[in-house]
Order: sequence, then C-alpha cells, then structure tokens
Amino acid sequence: MYDNIIKIYNLESIKNKIESITTVKLNDQLTLHLRLKKPIMTCPVCQTTPMYFHGYRLKQIIHSVSIEHKVLIAYQSRRYKCKLCCKVISESNPFNQSYERMSLNTKLSILNHLKDIHHNFADTAKLFNVSSQSMINIFDKHIDTHPRKLGEAIKQIRIKIQRKYDQDSLRLEYNDMYYYMLKKFHYFFVKDYENIYDGKIRVSKMKSYWHKSEILSYLLKIDDSLTKAYRLKEAYRVFNLTASFNDCDERLDELITEFRNSEFEIYRTFGQTLNTWRDSIKNSFIRIDGRRISNGPIESINNKIKTIIKNSNGIRYFYRFRNKVLYSINKDVPITNK
Ligand SMILES: [Zn+2]
Repeated sequence: MYDNIIKIYNLESIKNKIESITTVKLNDQLTLHLRLKKPIMTCPVCQTTPMYFHGYRLKQIIHSVSIEHKVLIAYQSRRYKCKLCCKVISESNPFNQSYERMSLNTKLSILNHLKDIHHNFADTAKLFNVSSQSMINIFDKHIDTHPRKLGEAIKQIRIKIQRKYDQDSLRLEYNDMYYYMLKKFHYFFVKDYENIYDGKIRVSKMKSYWHKSEILSYLLKIDDSLTKAYRLKEAYRVFNLTASFNDCDERLDELITEFRNSEFEIYRTFGQTLNTWRDSIKNSFIRIDGRRISNGPIESINNKIKTIIKNSNGIRYFYRFRNKVLYSINKDVPITNK
C-alpha cells in the first residue's frame, strides 16, 4: 500500500524493511514518518539473543529527492537493550551515517544536479534546502576526478603493456610494430568504437590504409592481458548503455567480480568503487520519460568551462573548480564513497 510513496521518494532499496510510512504535508514541507520492521538483535558485547526493545529515538533526516518541496524523513529508530549486560544499541540505520543529517539519496540528487554546467553551488544549496557549506562538503568529499575513471585505467594499462614492446627497452619481447601500433592508435582503447572514423585510416609505417575494424583486430591480437582489459571495459560500457533498473543486478555483480579479480591493480580499485556505489549505479538506471538522468553534451568543452566560470561567480579554490569542470564535462567521473 505504500508502494507509490516508496517509489516517488526513492526508498526502493529498503522497501522490505519498512514497517509503516505516513506522510504529513505542512506548508512547503513534506514529512515522511517512518518505522522499520523489528529485527531480531543480538548483543554485540555478550552475544545474547534477543535484545529487548528499549524505546524509540527520533532522527530527522533531510531527504531532498524532490526539488518541488522539502522532504524530511522522521525516522523512529528503535533502541534495544541487552538483559544480561545492559548494553543499549540502535537498529542499523539504512538512510545515512548516524552523524549525518542528510540521506544518501539527497547527496546523490545534489551531485546529479551539480552535474549540469548551469547549476552552481549556491543555487543548488538553496534548491535542496541545505546550507552552502554542507553542499560544498559533499562535493569535495565525493567528487574526486583524479584517476579512478575507467578510461584513465585502460590508458594506464595500455601504456604499461606498450612499454613491453618498446624497441629501446631492454626486454626480450620487444616488437617495434606492436609498440608503434599501440602508441599511434591509443585512442582505440578510450574512444567509443562507433565514434572512430569509419573510412580508411592511414598506417604510415605499413604504407597503407586500414579500416578501423582491421586496426582494432590487430591491436587486440598483440597482448592477451591488454585484450582482456579492453573487453572488460567494453562490457561495462555496453552494460551502461543497455541495462535497466530491473535487470541490472546480475550483470552488475558479474562486472564487479571481474574487475575485482583483474590482474591490474587499477581495475581492482575500479571494481572496488563500483561495489561501493552499487546501489547508486543501480538507481542511475531509473528512467524518467524513457531517459536516464544525465546531461547530453552539446556544446564544446570550452563553452562549458566558460559557463561554469560565469555561473560560479568565482569558485575560490582551484582544486574544486577543476573538479567541477571535469565532473560536469565527463560522463564517467565516479562519485566516491569516503
Ligand atoms: Zn549483552
């Protein structure tokens, strides 16, 4: 019976845990009064089961998944007491970390909103009913455009493999042609295949023209490890393009496992990031009017950067400014969970 509320307010991940939920609207604020089902608790100190109910504690959590009105979760968190050792603990809280006043969903909505180059920090804060400072804290904490991107990862792997075949290197397995091809056609590893020029491409060292399909198949015959890394990157890309909210679980788990078991450390780190943000990735497949929530890149990058500068009225710190630019113009900057 709560299905619609659960859907609208993006609580599907904890749907099975909800015991009751009622909504109260007052002026422009909507409050979701919520209780979770009673779990059987075991004392963390002396392992006695069960622990006994010891009252509620109200937690108010900002949950700005809608920008039409303020949404607050009034969460009656149950407390439990151990009969034996008197230890009192709270049930586990699925909304946020206990010291925070904001739900994970709110953070994600904010970060999604900031992705648009036209949205600056100050306006976004107002829109989501949080203070400018706490919003900037969220941004700084979760947006780090440095190397965890998949494109960057495959690039590093390609360079590592390419070195193996460098003529100047002292290694035995050097092959000048492999080195040349990997270096010259480095963009085959990062660019989407369908965006690579579809005519004849000059391979000067061979004094001939090749089609992109010939080049790719040459590149993928060079080194097994590199090929494996490339295929995994492609699998993730296809997954991103084709998965839907309802069928993504299994595929996502498979991909995470593959990344985490990769021979390359940078892939394992990426797998870790995917795993940490598993639910958020899943949520990103929710479609509104058939479209995922993202901004289509239309203008040139320069234009975008200018827009960000214009809209930010001067972002004081270069590092944050750089992150905002990279985050806004790149589709694959992960949101980190630290
Ligand atoms: Zn105990």
